[in-house]
Amino acid sequence: MKILVINAGSSSLKYQLLDPEKGTLLAKGLCERIGLDGPVLKHSPAGKDKVVIEKEMKDHQQAIALVLEALTDKEHGVIASMDEIDAVGHRVVNCGSFYAESVLIDEKVKKAIRDCYPLSPLHNPANMTGIEACEKAMPGKPMVAVFDTAFHQTMPEKAYIYGLPYKYYEKYQVRRYGAHGTSHRFVSQKAADFLGKDPKDLRLVTLHLGNGSSLAAVRGGVCVDTSMGFTPLSGPLMGTRCGDIDPAIVPFLMSQEGLDAKGIDRVMNKESGVFGVSGVSSDFRDLAEAASQGNHRAQLALDLFAYQVKKIMGSYIFAMGGCDAIIFTAGIGENDDLTRAAICEGLEDLGIKMDLGKNKGLRGQDADVSAPDSKVRILILPTNEELMIARDTMAIVNKL
Ligand code: AMP
Repeated sequence: MKILVINAGSSSLKYQLLDPEKGTLLAKGLCERIGLDGPVLKHSPAGKDKVVIEKEMKDHQQAIALVLEALTDKEHGVIASMDEIDAVGHRVVNCGSFYAESVLIDEKVKKAIRDCYPLSPLHNPANMTGIEACEKAMPGKPMVAVFDTAFHQTMPEKAYIYGLPYKYYEKYQVRRYGAHGTSHRFVSQKAADFLGKDPKDLRLVTLHLGNGSSLAAVRGGVCVDTSMGFTPLSGPLMGTRCGDIDPAIVPFLMSQEGLDAKGIDRVMNKESGVFGVSGVSSDFRDLAEAASQGNHRAQLALDLFAYQVKKIMGSYIFAMGGCDAIIFTAGIGENDDLTRAAICEGLEDLGIKMDLGKNKGLRGQDADVSAPDSKVRILILPTNEELMIARDTMAIVNKL
């Protein structure tokens, strides 16, 4: 089976063509600057050279047409015709409380995605543009929506209701939704496989640490809490997002700096996090380099990140009454041994003991880096959200 996975942004479109049964990638690519000057499609067929195609892309419709052309091209294509694509899986950021799992796209699903525009004003409309463009380009092809928020729908009320007047939950659906759900689900399933255990018997804390970072408490295979909230701004500080702060800082800074709602939103989303604290970079490689040269604020940003992740992880272990394994994933989790070690440092009395030798230098591969006498297993499991989307799409299409 061949599944095309689409992740549409407002001016970009990422795609992968995968065989979910074998878990193999046939091609991947990215359309950038859709609707802008200088649009470009970077297409990487597996086992062949990457090609860069510069052609007009005035909208997502044209971008999809170019992607299909690239996939079926005689030289750099990987399939003979579009008919070889069995179905399309779309990443959709937010489905509010409508769905707890992936669904076949029909008019009702599209209405739910539209109804959630206020919850995700940047991403959901862009995801919808991708869906509509694919529907036009491939009429009749089954399409599946895989939602970032769906995995977190199993959270109990006490984990998703905020201490605000309840009427705002009823009126505007202000509650915790979480994000990165596809990744948390992928690595929690992978952890069960890796440990040779039934997911029902496991209490896991999954740490998706990348440019955006979130943690999830996963008990019995379902999410019981997560650190991103109504928006992806909460949790530990991130690349450029501030994470959890005293909410009263918001009106204070607005009045001191003369900022409107958009202005403070920009400060908290784009100018904060490890970038805002360090003044150096949002990239942990740059921070480690600057810190090694004695830059105090770069070191402070790294310390803040590890400390905040550790505290949230601790709260989830308490919430679940214990933990069998901690899973590191995404850019930082998979690659940054120093940050992984800093997060686990000093937890030996709680049964969390990392083998620092095993952890050192480990990048992007499945591994158990816990010490033999650690009660809690510490795993590194690279995430693969596209493969999860392709698997969900296959499962739904197989039932049609
Ligand atoms: P992601 O959002 O999952 O793609 O993660 C991207 C982030 O991972 C980058 O901004 C870096 O901070 C971090 N990262 C990627 N590779 C490394 C590495 N080798 N060492 C440390 N951090 C890394």
